[in-house]
Amino acid sequence: MKKIKLKRIKLIGAILVVTFCIWMLVGIGIWINVKITNWRRLSEIERISEASYQTFSKFIDDIESQTDWSVEIISGLRSRERQKELLKENSKNASVDKSRHVLGRAIDINLYQKNWLWRVWLKKYNSKKDWKNTGVVRISEKYGLLWGGSYHNYHDPVHFEIR
Ligand SMILES: [Zn+2]
Repeated sequence: MKKIKLKRIKLIGAILVVTFCIWMLVGIGIWINVKITNWRRLSEIERISEASYQTFSKFIDDIESQTDWSVEIISGLRSRERQKELLKENSKNASVDKSRHVLGRAIDINLYQKNWLWRVWLKKYNSKKDWKNTGVVRISEKYGLLWGGSYHNYHDPVHFEIR
């Protein structure tokens, strides 16, 4: 009887350890993926404009050092073709000639925060107020960036562009 109980405890223990390891690996995987993506997107901008690259790099460094949030760049430099596609998908997206993304002068970002178990994300669907509360908008002003949350006709809080 006792032996069976001990076996069961060992089994539960093993399951917990394996679950913890998977959870850690997934967390590290997400982290590495975000860092590589950010690096790749910033490099694409750097090839077009060193000044834009410097501004966005500093902007992101400031966010990560001055707030509790980390940054995932979800869009940076876009080809004219890609911008045309986006315009087809949503007529509220900027036209090719107006989009700062085509010039390497805009980035779209998500923010995330890790609590002890999972990541909390701040994305496009979050309110302007949520975004302002992070302190990110205040930091963007320091760099003179235009924030997509300040558009009147389009809710685009993930967007920051060099004027
Ligand atoms: Zn954008």
